[in-house]
Order: sequence, then C-alpha cells, then structure tokens
Amino acid sequence: MEQERKCNETGCNGDCSNCSSAKQEPESFIEAPNKYSKIKNVIGVVSGKGGVGKSMVTAMLAVLMSRKGYKVGILDADITGPSIPKMFGINSRAKMNDKGILPEVTAGGIKIMSCNLLLENPDAPVVWRGPVLAGAVKQFWTDVFWDEIDFLFVDMPPGTGDVPLTVYQSLPIDGAVIVTTPQDLVSLIVKKACNMANMMNIRVLGMVENMSYVKCPDCGKEFEIFGKSNFNELCSEMQIMPLGRMPIDTKLTELCNEGEFEKFYASYLEDAANMIETAYNK
Ligand code: ADP
Repeated sequence: MEQERKCNETGCNGDCSNCSSAKQEPESFIEAPNKYSKIKNVIGVVSGKGGVGKSMVTAMLAVLMSRKGYKVGILDADITGPSIPKMFGINSRAKMNDKGILPEVTAGGIKIMSCNLLLENPDAPVVWRGPVLAGAVKQFWTDVFWDEIDFLFVDMPPGTGDVPLTVYQSLPIDGAVIVTTPQDLVSLIVKKACNMANMMNIRVLGMVENMSYVKCPDCGKEFEIFGKSNFNELCSEMQIMPLGRMPIDTKLTELCNEGEFEKFYASYLEDAANMIETAYNK
C-alpha cells in the first residue's frame, strides 16, 4: 500500500530498478540508548519457555565475563518473572541522577536493571499488558544510565510473542544465546525461539543445555534424569554451535537463594564465555 501511494505521488512509470522510492530500506525500530551510555555489545539470552534456566545462564555468563575484566551489565527483560536481583542479593530501589535511572551494582561490579528495582513491593505481580511490558524494557535501554559497558546481557522475556518481538526490534541485539533442557517439549519450543531469532536477523551464537544431568555427590556418577540428552542432535539440526551442558547443581541453587551467586566456582559455561569473548574481540 505504502509503495503504491509513493508510486502514485511520484508518477510511477512501472520501472522499479531506478526508482529511489522502491529502494528505501525497511524502517528500523531500534531505539538509541541513554545518551550518556556507551554499550559495546548486547547479548540476548533466549528460551522459548520459562523455567529452563535462562536467568541462571544469563547470570553465569555475566559473572564469567566480569571475571575476565570486562565491564558487564544485565538488563532483566523478563519483566513478569524477574529473578536477577535476588540472585545477586540486591533488594534496594534504583535511584536517579541527571543522566538517568541508575542501575544497581553487585558486589563484583556488575550493573543490574530490573523491574523489581522499581517496584515499591518486590512481591507485587506485574499485571501489565504486552505493550506496557515492552515499553518498560525499552526504557531500561533508553533511560538507564549504564555508562560504559563492554557486554550487556539481556535476560529476554520467554516465548515468541509480543514482548520478545518488541525487544528484538528495539534493542540492537548483537547475538543470542539459546537455552534448552533435555525434554522434547522444551526442544520443540526452543526451535521456535531459534527460528524467531533467525527471522529477526539476530546472530545465534550458540546453545546451552541446562539441567542436563545430576552428578551423585558420593559416587560421581551422572544421571540424566530428564532422559537421554539430544543436545548434539538438536544443535546440528538447528545448525547452532553447542556452547556447553550444565547439570542440576544444588550449590548454584543455594547461592541463588542466598543472593551470593557471584561466589560460584563452576566451569560449565567457561567455553561459552571464551567463545563470546573471541566472537566480540574486534
Ligand atoms: P528461567 O529464567 O528460564 O525462567 P531460571 O534461571 O529462573 O529460569 O531457573 C528456574 C529455577 O531453576 C530457579 O530456581 C533456578 O535457581 C533453578 N535452576 C536453573 N538452572 C539450575 C541448575 N543448573 N542447577 C540448579 N538449579 C537451577
């Protein structure tokens, strides 16, 4: 319709090859970040389904990159299920200065913005419609004074609906890390999330399988409690790089519960962090 209108206005002769109207790029909805912030790389952590460990993977990658000496932030775009502040023991409210809303900073120096830092009562449910949820995520990008960040990890809203769509369209996501668990139902939905990233022309950096197995603390034997992993097959089918498998590790859950996530020492995602570092060290 738009093209037809332009053709009528410009006196179209039917030959599109030399027509400037026909050559216009599709409109970009990408928002400019807060004007005092300089954010080098934005990595989305994605899963089609909630509860698979997207926040766990986001937090772990953020800590690993911070330990490598990078300036790291986490934008918690999972507005209805925000778990990032609790994992890092943050329960204060965000403040503002003349440059914007200030992210809270963890003990290890990671900057965090989440809707739980803005709510008067962190237990209050966020009963907002899609456009309002998406608007809040956009504001975490446009109104938060992130200052200088090498890697901003975005804990993406789960699913493939309105909110993740707006996030993909509004934030300049440089790459996506997909999180799955070894269950057919999850793989099915994760495929949708991968295909959505591809449709939005987002580079998929690789996939992590979470909750892959449990290791017996006594004998060291690994049990695949969700059934046999199909991770490698799924990665080859989707043509995605496998970034690592992470077991169910109760030490991680304890650290999350205690708000001491930065104290973890586990090497499950070290390869993933190295790969991200290599991919973005321009
Ligand atoms: P999502 O962000 O996909 O909704 P979360 O990262 O919040 O999922 O994880 C859901 C729950 O499972 C949380 O309580 C988290 O602590 C726990 N969890 C996730 N991954 C692991 C793991 N590898 N080991 C132990 N607990 C985990």
